[in-house]
This record gives sequence, structure tokens and C-alpha cells, in this order.
Amino acid sequence: MQIGFIGLGNMGHHMARNLASASHTVVGFDLHAPCPAGVTAAASGAEAAQGADVVITMLPNGAILRAVAAEVIAAMKPGAVLLDCSTVDVDSARAVAEQAEAASLAALDAPVSGGTGGADAGTLTFMVGGPQNAFATAQPLFEIMGQKAVHCGGAGNGQAAKICNNMILGVTMTATCEAFALADKLGLDRQAMFDVVSTSSGYSWSMNAYCPAPGVGPDSPADNDYKPGFAAELMLKDLRLSQQAAEAVDADTPLGQATTALYETFVESEGGAGQDFSAMLPRFERKSRG
Ligand code: NAD
Repeated sequence: MQIGFIGLGNMGHHMARNLASASHTVVGFDLHAPCPAGVTAAASGAEAAQGADVVITMLPNGAILRAVAAEVIAAMKPGAVLLDCSTVDVDSARAVAEQAEAASLAALDAPVSGGTGGADAGTLTFMVGGPQNAFATAQPLFEIMGQKAVHCGGAGNGQAAKICNNMILGVTMTATCEAFALADKLGLDRQAMFDVVSTSSGYSWSMNAYCPAPGVGPDSPADNDYKPGFAAELMLKDLRLSQQAAEAVDADTPLGQATTALYETFVESEGGAGQDFSAMLPRFERKSRG
């Protein structure tokens, strides 16, 4: 397949490299980042899109996606698939899908879970919204870049799944950190806390796979001085998207709202920017001490 790849940052770089290693022809474009080995550099997004069967975008946000999509859709050949893997708002995903459809193209929103490690290893999970035939076209590419792709329904549903997943992640991480800080105050040993909760009804991915307490559980950013991993500001971005979506459809999400407020304060005025999102634990420790 010929693939255009736009957005070669922390995630896109690895994904484009894996596609090129699997013998696809990959033409890449990024405003700043260099092309990985095996990827041919284009001078613009439109140039990367010309003649491509699939154009993949991996960009920072919905406003940038909309601007890039407008340029790229005009350059794509009829019947080609626009595959956006960025995490953006549901409205932007649906607006891009409408534009693509009007130009006789198919669009998929396919945000990912798995982080830069998953992008590097080709083990991402894709949650995908858009037409079934476009999903079938993209399936071989999902298999190279990831280990699982779930078709979630029509346009925007991939972003809906991502936002809901990450709202759960933010809430469970916060709850896990809060409980560790309380356990400290109650004189409970952290290893005992992990051993109990990780095998009891309070278990979660945040506790079991990404434990926020250093020296306890599997290796995680807590064991590396809370260097990200998944940065607190990216968690905040996703939580804000969840609240924007909740407001648009009048859904009641009090825990999502409270968690968004916590990460907002943490990132903007408590030194959380540049730290892993699990650094909520030292934040609670500092507050508890007072
Ligand atoms: P990044 O900032 O490292 O990469 C984005 C790239 O887009 C940058 O290299 C930037 O130069 C490029 N770019 C911006 N505007 C452009 C334009 N107009 N034309 C061409 N290139 C342009 O971000 P990332 O960490 O790779 O994340 C990309 C997306 O994936 C985001 O939406 C993010 O939320 C999502 N995501 C990231 C992770 C993660 O762990 N990093 C995990 C899951 C999802």
C-alpha cells in the first residue's frame, strides 16, 4: 500500500517506521520532526497525501486536525481512506468525516491506547469509528501498528471510546493515589496496601499495572522519579475532552468533573506539568502533611 503519514512526533514517528519496516511505501510530513528511517520526506501534507491509498494523521489536537484535513482531503485520490489516530474531540472527528465523505473519501477516527512504548513495539490498541469497508481497508495497517483494533461504530465513536476510557483512567488513578495517601496516614505499609488491593475489589489498571507508589508493584514511572510515561498535561487534555463531550450531550459526570478540576490545579499551579499523571500521589502526600 502507499501511505501518507502526517505528524511524526513521539507517537507517529514509531508508527510510520513500523509501517515502512513492513514493506509499505510511506511518505511522511511533519512541520518540525524528522522522518524515521525508511520513510520518504514530503514538502507538505498535500504532497504526502497525493496518490496514497491511506493517509494517516497523528496530530496534537482537533483544531490542527481540521486544518490539516482540509488541505489533505483536497489532494487525496477518490476512494482513499483518511485514518486519524490523534486524540481529538468527537465534533472534530465527525466534521472531518463529513468533509471526507463529501469528497468521495472514507474517514476513520482511530485513537490509540498504549503510549510511546506501544507505538514503538507495534502493540497499540485502536478504537475505531467510521464505515465498515474503510475499517477493513485499514485492518492490515492496524495489525502492523498494534495488537488490537475494535470497531466501535460510526464516525466519532472511536474518539468517544477513547475519551470514556481515559476518564475512567483519570478517576481510578486519582482514587488509587488518594487511598495510598490515606493508608500512609493510617500507618499501613505500602507493600501490604498493594498486596491487598491488587488482589481485592479495589484493583484496577492504575494499581496493578501502573502503581503510583515507588518501589511497590511492577516497574512504573513512580520508580523513575515520576518522569512521564503519560504526562499529567496529556491526562488533563483527555479529561477536558471528556467534559466538553459530556456538556455537549448533557451527561452527568461528577467524578470526571472533579478529576478534571484536580488535574487542572495540579498541572497549572502545583508543579504537575512535565510529571507523570501518577505524580498525583506525592501531590496528595504534600497536601496531607499540611
Ligand atoms: P507530539 O507533539 O510528539 O507529535 C505531534 C506532531 O505533529 C509534532 O511532531 C508536530 O510537529 C506535528 N504537527 C503539528 N502540526 C502539524 C501540521 N500542521 N502538519 C504536520 N505536522 C504537524 O504528540 P504525540 O505524543 O505523538 O501525540 C500525538 C497524538 O496522539 C495526540 O493527539 C495525543 O493526545 C495522542 N496520544 C499520545 C500518547 C502518548 O503517550 N504520547 C498516547 C496516546 C495518544
